[in-house]
Amino acid sequence: MVERRDTDSRTLLRRLRDTLATPGGGQDRLDHITHLIADSMHTQVCSIYLFRDPETLELCATEGLNPEAVHQVRMRLGEGLVGRVARTGVAVNTGDAPSEPGFRYMPETGEEIYSSFLGVPIQRVGEKLGVLVVQSREAREFSEDEVYGLEVVAMVIAEMTELGAFTGDQGGIGSAHRFPVMFRGATGQEGAAEGRVWLHEPRVVVANPVGDDPDAEKARLEEAVATLQAHIDEMLIGSAAMDKEQRQILEAYKMLAHSRGWVRRMCEDIDLGLSAEAAVEKEQSTARARLEQSTDAYLRERLHDLDDLSNRLLRLLTGQGKDTGAELPENPVLVARNIGPAELLDYGRKLKGVVLEEGSVGSHAAIVARALAIPLVIHAARVTNEALNGDQILVDGDQGIVHLRPEESVAGAFRDKIAMQAEAQKRYADLRGVPAQDKSGQNVSLMMNAGLMADLPSLNSSGADGVGLFRTELQFLIRSRVPRRGELAALYKRVIDAAQGAPVQFRTLDIGSDKVVPYMKPQEEPNPAMGWRAIRVGLDKPGVLRMQLQALIRASEGRPLSVMFPFIAAPDEFNTAKAMLMREIDRESTLNRPVPRDVRVGAMLETPSLAFAPDSFFAACDFISIGGNDLKQFFFAADRENERVRRRYDTLDVSFLAFIEAIISRCNANDVALSFCGEDAGRPIEALTFAALGLRTLSMRPASIGPVKHLIRRVDLAVLKQVIDAARARGDQSVRHAVTAWLASQ
Ligand code: PEP
Ligand code: MG
Repeated sequence: MVERRDTDSRTLLRRLRDTLATPGGGQDRLDHITHLIADSMHTQVCSIYLFRDPETLELCATEGLNPEAVHQVRMRLGEGLVGRVARTGVAVNTGDAPSEPGFRYMPETGEEIYSSFLGVPIQRVGEKLGVLVVQSREAREFSEDEVYGLEVVAMVIAEMTELGAFTGDQGGIGSAHRFPVMFRGATGQEGAAEGRVWLHEPRVVVANPVGDDPDAEKARLEEAVATLQAHIDEMLIGSAAMDKEQRQILEAYKMLAHSRGWVRRMCEDIDLGLSAEAAVEKEQSTARARLEQSTDAYLRERLHDLDDLSNRLLRLLTGQGKDTGAELPENPVLVARNIGPAELLDYGRKLKGVVLEEGSVGSHAAIVARALAIPLVIHAARVTNEALNGDQILVDGDQGIVHLRPEESVAGAFRDKIAMQAEAQKRYADLRGVPAQDKSGQNVSLMMNAGLMADLPSLNSSGADGVGLFRTELQFLIRSRVPRRGELAALYKRVIDAAQGAPVQFRTLDIGSDKVVPYMKPQEEPNPAMGWRAIRVGLDKPGVLRMQLQALIRASEGRPLSVMFPFIAAPDEFNTAKAMLMREIDRESTLNRPVPRDVRVGAMLETPSLAFAPDSFFAACDFISIGGNDLKQFFFAADRENERVRRRYDTLDVSFLAFIEAIISRCNANDVALSFCGEDAGRPIEALTFAALGLRTLSMRPASIGPVKHLIRRVDLAVLKQVIDAARARGDQSVRHAVTAWLASQ
């Protein structure tokens, strides 16, 4: 009985495959396929619905329903039983379709006479392509074998769709990966870019979904699985040095790779006629659909393990490596699930943009993208499923939006935006040599934020007065081991050399919590942003901080040196860190090595507590820099990484401005230099407002210096201060409206 089922299935799959070889267009093939399936399954109806766009399904072929309905009947994702199958990725099997919840009657099709309904998703690696349906008059549920058999058939149709078997003829069936798709993600780095997709991990192409010799296919599969298991076992043997958590992940991998159920199911798929590759994909898709429904975070996390294992297995079976020999297109936009900072740096400035499915604002990749000034959109769900190498893509880092294969009208509007930005940049370049001085002669110093050697040419091109924030963590994040003192000293020296006498404020390491360096044990912390990070790590484990301070002293070679400590929440922390620096300078001095001519020691004000520290703290600081990104998240209790809340409170909210003003007063009273180096310093309206309130140094992305300078030179800051005061007196919650309205009137 089972043998007969297998033989029937194999015969059907072979016939399906043969349609690929028959001449004729996509519509002819689809029509033929529905006929073959209905015949083989002994049902009166077989229909194929494919996505017309990501939200709409269209009846593309049918055996048994009204032929007039083909290409006329459409439904939205989730609508009716077909829409339900598409949305959930799970089969619907019923003997009484009209009584099923969500059933939608479509008179055009003439389906009212068919009672039983079996719909299965046509999907590939989590990518939804359509729905395959069989219906019959007889009121009966389909057997497990029949459901399973239809899923196998759907897998072959999915592969055929991917291979473009049904495209481009009179039926007007769009192939997968042809629709324009928009992804709404989140901003990782601002800016706009147009280019061509470059997949960091290219998709595996399965050229033959049908296997002719089940024994040979099973042997291939078993060999590949054995190789995969051996790889993982080797990794585990070499994992003695790993911490518990990393080992646990590998163990989970191992369990999955050795799971008998997984291999058995794939062998059953092969018995029904699939090739080994198609069997891997089928099990991946089925498990994916199941896991995606789960509300259990641990299970959902296993999705990645499953995808990784399946992809490795597919690469073993097809022999397709990550390097497909494809050439990086012109204007490449990198599309990936996630990417490490070192890999991103390898691509470097060649990239026009980056789009990630995962990532976060503070992730290493985001830090690198920011340093390279490449527009970055994160949380673009499923983009790696949709995008193909070479696809046209627009990245709007300002809005966190990505347009894949855009309509010409969208692309046109987008190009206008890029052109306007480029035009403005050209105008700003002319301002390079002039000071950021307002109409009354008040100067504001504009510095730049940096973190890579690659940033340094911007010192000249942007006209920055110096580096207000040099983030040193990147050098630690991109290595697999702690950098050596000599390496760091050489790098810091190059930075100081490049600045040619302009000040550089080095911020010591801000790692810990979510910025995990590869050689440091990751901490499970409930609130990483408020956890063991930055100076807290530096003081608890002083070895690395000390080494970094020594490197900075050596790099200065007797020239002036500015060092600031991140995330100081209490004066004690600053005093201890400063004493450490002084001790290291003394030590160098006793060794007769050159010591910095002038040492300036500062604190980053990133926690509200520090604004209320005693005067003695301010007196001990040579300078203070407001880390607005962190300060704002703690002031409003709104996580800067959480898209739901991070834009909820305006920087120009009068409460926040009052707080900034209080910090300015305290610094003025204690004669301490003050700057602002969070991202807001680079936003023109915010920068102008800060300057009007009395901030005289702003440090920002190099690309922001032009726009900010342009605006400062157009206004009288004292007059703007009156506008701000009037808005506050009126009781406005934010001064944004008042400032922009006043600017427009200028
Ligand atoms: C800040 O918090 O504003 C800051 C400049 O530091 P980072 O963004 O690196 O945390
Ligand atoms: Mg910070």
